[in-house]
Amino acid sequence: MSYDIEVKLLVITPGSETLVERAGRLCYASGDKIGSNDSWLQTRIRQGHESLIEHASATFYIKASRALTHELVRHRIASYSQRSQRYVKESKPDYITPPEISADPRLVKVYRKAMDAAWQSYRELLEAGIKAELARYVLPNACSTEIICTWNFREIRHIIKLRASPAALPEMREVADMIKRIMQKEAPLVFGDL
Ligand SMILES: Cc1cc2nc3c(=O)[nH]c(=O)nc-3n(C[C@H](O)[C@H](O)[C@H](O)COP(=O)(O)OP(=O)(O)OC[C@H]3O[C@@H](n4cnc5c(N)ncnc54)[C@H](O)[C@@H]3O)c2cc1C
Repeated sequence: MSYDIEVKLLVITPGSETLVERAGRLCYASGDKIGSNDSWLQTRIRQGHESLIEHASATFYIKASRALTHELVRHRIASYSQRSQRYVKESKPDYITPPEISADPRLVKVYRKAMDAAWQSYRELLEAGIKAELARYVLPNACSTEIICTWNFREIRHIIKLRASPAALPEMREVADMIKRIMQKEAPLVFGDL
């Protein structure tokens, strides 16, 4: 079962692993040893010397529900830009259906009825001259949205630890797992242990 979501890496600090190792090795005047030991960064991270991985960052595009982004933006060491429901009209129903619901035709019917009713009310409010910023009050948490997020590597590790865990929202877990897989490919020396 999976959610109809998107997670794309847009930009990552070039040479990120070398950069953070360089920052760390500067502390110990061992710059001549950069690249000589693949476990060096992981040892620093285990020791709690994590500020050095703050020098690298990554920017992601995420398409998911507003329920998810509401939780995601609680991570404060970050920069976010999210599609506005004040200035952009959500003219056509675009929403996330949890696979736990889409697996059961009876529940799909219940769910779709609620979505159709929400968008019908939204359109009627717009037609009555209500601004999008107020009409959106009737839209659901399921509403699909887009967000661009920039986090440094330390914060990405933190987000993966919290949000890929079984305690997290299932949709969030999928997003965090996708971020984890991308980061493990891009910077295995920093994310390989997760
Ligand atoms: C399973 C789960 C359930 C949750 N349930 C709820 C809920 O019911 N209600 C709710 O409101 N929230 C809930 N949250 C959100 C949670 O409380 C945090 O707001 C969110 O996970 C952001 O994480 P954070 O605060 O660790 O870190 P970030 O904002 O990502 O910051 C990273 C780290 O920086 C440090 N930091 C950042 N800001 C400060 C600060 N002001 N003071 C000191 N240290 C700081 C902390 O060490 C922090 O861990 C839940 C989160 C999870 C994972």
